Amino acid sequence: MDVLIKDALILTQDARREIVRGDILVQDGKISKIAKSIRADADEKIDAKGKLAFPGLVNAHTHIPMSLFRGYAEGMVLHDWLEKKIWPAEAKLKPRHIRAGSMLSILEMVRSGTTCFNEMYIAHMDEVCRAVLETGIRASVGHGLFDLVKKTDAKDELKNGTSLVEKWSGKSPLLNISMAPHAPYTCSEELILLAKGHARKKSLKFHMHISETRKEVFDSLREKGKRPVEYLHSLGVLDENTVLAHGSWVTKRESALAGKAGASISHNPVANLKLATGGICPLHEYLEAGANIALGTDGTASNNCHNMLETMKFAQLMQSHLYWDPLRVSIQNVWDFATMNGAKALGFNAGSIAPGKEADIVLADLRSSNLAPLHDARNLLFSMHPGNITDVLIAGKPILREGKFTELDEQKIIGEAQEAAEDLVSP
Ligand SMILES: [Zn+2]
Repeated sequence: MDVLIKDALILTQDARREIVRGDILVQDGKISKIAKSIRADADEKIDAKGKLAFPGLVNAHTHIPMSLFRGYAEGMVLHDWLEKKIWPAEAKLKPRHIRAGSMLSILEMVRSGTTCFNEMYIAHMDEVCRAVLETGIRASVGHGLFDLVKKTDAKDELKNGTSLVEKWSGKSPLLNISMAPHAPYTCSEELILLAKGHARKKSLKFHMHISETRKEVFDSLREKGKRPVEYLHSLGVLDENTVLAHGSWVTKRESALAGKAGASISHNPVANLKLATGGICPLHEYLEAGANIALGTDGTASNNCHNMLETMKFAQLMQSHLYWDPLRVSIQNVWDFATMNGAKALGFNAGSIAPGKEADIVLADLRSSNLAPLHDARNLLFSMHPGNITDVLIAGKPILREGKFTELDEQKIIGEAQEAAEDLVSP
């Protein structure tokens, strides 16, 4: 299907970070041309006059079925929250719940301009993969592995990850499967090494939580004699295919280790603030060290939304606050984190509006009271909200057009999520 987007203001995120006015031609799911005026016989023409086009946002760390727990348990300390609320509900998860939560999250992501996400969750992951293919969103999906909590054998636990790879790898260009050991404190050394070994053998991404809380760092020092990133470095699992979620409580030496290895960091500012983890991820140090920084929302039980526009704003404001300097991590840096860097972290040829790239494109209506007047389009990240987004294309396919889903039955999905959530939390 060919699509011609006419007369947009384009925040390209190309190599020169140009902002241009013109047309975008999409052919066979890819961006083929950008020019002041393009004449072409496209299957669909989109009038983007008065609209901003920007690359689809990439959510580099989340747990999408957890949207069923949005607002279910608030104002609790982490331990009570997990033991009294989340774990008992998660013990009841059936495939239909995973499906309902996944579909709800995908609706929310598309409506807020996200076209690609990095997923890790613990049960019935086939349903997440099915939801990705059914909706046409782009994703990297891994089965969260943790042998220490379950007290299972590392080799048996690994099979959860490898069987997802066998079943779904290569099924669609929209779907990558990753290996996703949960965290250094929930996985044995044997499991981490097995998971990375399999990832290397099959050229997969390796996705793991790390250094989210100060307690985790102290426990690691006590038990292993090393800080968490030093520990992963000593195991030899840091490389350009590793995506570390959080990485907030790190020393300069650790950010240097991650950067030297070319690893990606998913910074999740809103979830960190909500869980009151204290430390702020030192993005400037990571940048200086050469790490690939991306942004994520984390799951909706600890955020409570998948709104990447909000995450981008929080990221920039928190870094300004951290360094007492609004320029140390710039607005342009934040656009890079949320687009091209996220795509790189997950292994997709997306994240900018440039010829040859996957056509993941978002349109926002500039004729909105919170977006006018227009100065530098980059600065709109401080005031844009999901209600401004009118159109979303993923791999060139319009998923949202003029504020309406082209194929997905939004109200049905929301209704099914409500039923599934009530089912899970009923006594
Ligand atoms: Zn997480």
